[in-house]
Amino acid sequence: MSRLLLVSNRLPVTVKAEKDSVSVVRSSGGLATGLSRPHERSGGLWLGWPGDVSRLTDAQRAQVESQLTGLRCVPLYLSASEVSRFYEGYSNRVLWPLCHYMLDRIPRQDRDWEIYRKVNERFADLVVRHYQPGDTIWVHDYQLMLVPGLLRQRLPGARIGYFHHIPFPSAEIFSTLPRRQELLKGLLGADLIGFHTVSYVRHFSGSLLRQLGLDTDIDRIIWDGREVRVGAFPMGIDVSAFEPLARDSGILEEVATLRRKAEGQRLLLGIDRLDYTKGIPRRLLAVQRLLEREPAWRGRLRFIQVAVPSRTQVDAYAAYREKVDELVGRINGTYGSVTNVPVHYLYRSFNERQLVGLYRAADVMLVTPVRDGMNLVAKEFCAARPDEDGVLVLSEFAGAAAEMDSALIVNAYDVEAMADAIETALEMPEDERRSRMRALREGVKARDVHWWAASFIDRLQGLKTMAEKGL
Ligand code: UDP
Repeated sequence: MSRLLLVSNRLPVTVKAEKDSVSVVRSSGGLATGLSRPHERSGGLWLGWPGDVSRLTDAQRAQVESQLTGLRCVPLYLSASEVSRFYEGYSNRVLWPLCHYMLDRIPRQDRDWEIYRKVNERFADLVVRHYQPGDTIWVHDYQLMLVPGLLRQRLPGARIGYFHHIPFPSAEIFSTLPRRQELLKGLLGADLIGFHTVSYVRHFSGSLLRQLGLDTDIDRIIWDGREVRVGAFPMGIDVSAFEPLARDSGILEEVATLRRKAEGQRLLLGIDRLDYTKGIPRRLLAVQRLLEREPAWRGRLRFIQVAVPSRTQVDAYAAYREKVDELVGRINGTYGSVTNVPVHYLYRSFNERQLVGLYRAADVMLVTPVRDGMNLVAKEFCAARPDEDGVLVLSEFAGAAAEMDSALIVNAYDVEAMADAIETALEMPEDERRSRMRALREGVKARDVHWWAASFIDRLQGLKTMAEKGL
């Protein structure tokens, strides 16, 4: 295996500062877990931003650097202005809503493009500095869409991959972006461009045709005298970490306590970052609608919605939080009693053990984003159900729906249909619940995060580079 240079906006670490000392802790998120094996085995490097270190003393900064070196991570420090304009600005205020079809959330002025471009150049510079001939470079996600193109100019013979972790929108939507051509050309610097689903691959090909007049031959594009490949690589989760937790006696006790406290009630569960793509308001409206039209369910449902604080510096997220708060209040005010409320709304994050407890306790898991690149929560829920019970209600607009067709698939814009799906889930006979869950679990196990990383890397390393073709 050649040395792997992984490039992502965030390094897979968290810097924890105490009084005099500081420690660098590995993150346990999906990408961090999925790429940790190839990172270690290839003896390569991971390049990215370690998070805000502006408050650290020089001595602490030196400690961070040495710990990062030990983890074979190379930091790229972003200034406060770069964080606000490259990361929160262009990445999260423009590209995020664009790729999630939310054009009305994009600011009218395209002010942060230059900073986005400059930070992408800084990333490319850092990669070039650490590159050795024979290395494989794998760039991640929408914050770094220009990096493959910038690298190609400076390392024409390098093997470069790019993976897009969020949806790639239809050509109609993508064409609204002023910088559409620059971004597409940036991606075309890669040898292999990966998406979660075949639909996103098609959308990308549609944009190439419309914006650059390029035809895609199945999975192959000729650009600038080179071959570029595209493919669908659905990301999975670390099933081997979830399975043992779902059988852990301490967690099972927690599950039993939770179920006892909700005696006589059915548990509905939602777990999301508090993001406007996650469809939380319509999901709440669907629960409200069910209680409104079916009085028999009143007092018999408990909907636990975990909303993890996210991007709190971006205005749209604060407004969204208010909307969710208001809806929760309205439903609880209408359908609650002095001893019980239907919606248990938790604005905070939970650790993996706590999440598994919730997944394991739920009767029905509601994953109803209005748009989502993949959605790992849907897969985690299934991995946490070795009892082969529980029903997954899944939005057709989540990338996960392309693989998880044994879920109850719903149109997350259609409140009435979601109320119907929740009711169907609550009333589903046990044998149907089990056969659906068995099928879902098979898929989740077969395509876990290690399979995802290995299949992308194998494909990329199996391609011949220009240098190998003698060009
Ligand atoms: N998650 C977590 N704590 C929480 C809620 C969620 O660690 O309180 C994790 C969850 O286990 C999952 C990830 O956050 O791995 C969310 O991934 P997903 O693909 O569903 O959505 P994203 O937040 O990436 O849009």
